Amino acid sequence: MADAKVYKNFINGEWVDSVAKKTFENRNPADTRELLGVFQASNEEDVKRAIDAAKEAYKKWRLVPAPKRGEMLFRLGETLVRRKEDFARPMTQEMGKVLKETRGDVQEAIDMSYYMAGEGRRQFGETTPSELPNKFMMSVRMPLGVCAMITPWNFPMAIPSWKLMPALVCGNTVVFKPASYTPLSAYNLVKACEEVGIPKGVVNFVTGSGGAVGIPLMKSDDVKLVTFTGSTAVGRTVSEVCAPSFKHTHLEMGGKNAIMVMDDAKIDLAIEGAVWGGFGTTGQRCTAASRVIVHKKVVKEFTDKFVARAKALKIGNGLDPAVEMGPSISEDQLNTVMEYVEIGKKEAKLLCGGNRMTSGDYKHGYFHEPTIFGDVDPQMRIAQEEIFGPVVSIIPCDSLEQAIDINNGTIYGLSASVYTQDVNKAFQAMRDSYTGIFYVNASTIGAEVHLPFGGTNHTGNGHREAGTAALDVFSEWKAIYVDFSGKLQKAQIDDIMP
Ligand code: NAP
Repeated sequence: MADAKVYKNFINGEWVDSVAKKTFENRNPADTRELLGVFQASNEEDVKRAIDAAKEAYKKWRLVPAPKRGEMLFRLGETLVRRKEDFARPMTQEMGKVLKETRGDVQEAIDMSYYMAGEGRRQFGETTPSELPNKFMMSVRMPLGVCAMITPWNFPMAIPSWKLMPALVCGNTVVFKPASYTPLSAYNLVKACEEVGIPKGVVNFVTGSGGAVGIPLMKSDDVKLVTFTGSTAVGRTVSEVCAPSFKHTHLEMGGKNAIMVMDDAKIDLAIEGAVWGGFGTTGQRCTAASRVIVHKKVVKEFTDKFVARAKALKIGNGLDPAVEMGPSISEDQLNTVMEYVEIGKKEAKLLCGGNRMTSGDYKHGYFHEPTIFGDVDPQMRIAQEEIFGPVVSIIPCDSLEQAIDINNGTIYGLSASVYTQDVNKAFQAMRDSYTGIFYVNASTIGAEVHLPFGGTNHTGNGHREAGTAALDVFSEWKAIYVDFSGKLQKAQIDDIMP
């Protein structure tokens, strides 16, 4: 602890200690002996200072022309490109996912920087004829003010970028509270903002727990929007705490995503999709394919091959290029996985895995075997609840219609996919699946930044991240009427017809 690098909060363009001068540790989940640094355990006073700085900076930032704000984001993208490897490696160390995936995480931040840079010149409104003569009408986007960003640990740079870039290009200022398991990647992103000269106070960074930092952010009257990605349980808290002040909330929450494999599917392709969807990021993606609904005619072949592939996965430290799956993020998350495995053993048939890995170097990290349950009923807890670990349920079905019903039969609605060679079935599945994201002959993961991202039911509250949809989260519409007739004209009342 004495030698650990101390990371600070970033408030009003200065790197500062927390008021209480308390810190917390950031350790490697693949080897908890490795201390990556200590971060500020901030409190309400730190949050207030950050909000005050963001409020002050907003006065000028909102008036910077949007194309100029976009140019700053473009420069930020350039910096991220240059530093991609520098940022991917520590991300693997603090989060555990393999290097290929953390490079992808930084790439997503790059993509979002460039995409939103372009939106600086595309914040189009509408003009439309007035019903009255000599009157002009238009709609324009206006920024909201100070936005609070509360983010999870599974995409430590990508998800903050999904919020930061559209917030900034729309003219808002932000206070960013990252997940306590992954503050280093968040710090790297904020440092890059500082390097490209984003004005002081526009981006503020306050680390600390959800209760100590998140709640004061939500309660402040000076914060106009809380944009949150995380669990449905905490999302509900965000919703409730923000409701009395009618604060805007943008919630991206849990998932229980399904791959549907039809009897005419290319089975080997579907298996690759199920392995990637189920065990990529150690099953810790909101879009992870934790259910695979397989037509009974092919379920045996699918199961045999899928189990063989899962057993062959190489598990370990994500910095090793041969490793395919890293650890769970934490002891708590691993315990959740193990609890669900115990539940699954009572409910269904364990086909492979099922154990924490404790031999050799594994004992220093939070490793769990890739686990598959077979003969799972759609109503079982392992098929209904988000586990967020390397656990997949195979649910047999008789038809596409039944598969779609099963897919739609949870409280969530983020992502789904179908494997079929029949174009009619593919279109039926994409029409009838009530999810925010849908794939055909691909896994449940793989979203790109220029289409809307988010889910239905308990996954979201009707907003979407990414794409132009993100602009609707981070701005409000203003309708403007300009009367140049020189007299009082009354809409809906004056009869102007000859
Ligand atoms: P989480 O426990 O809900 O935490 C998310 C963020 O909320 C963290 O910054 C956390 O801070 C903070 N927080 C926790 N309790 C809080 C409280 N009472 N008040 C205010 N803030 C609070 O979620 P997670 O474990 O980080 O992430 C996993 C979840 O995120 C999964 O459910 C996954 O599906 C979901 N997710 C959804 C999407 C999507 O786009 N739909 C994307 C990725 C992940 P601390 O870290 O300090 O606790």
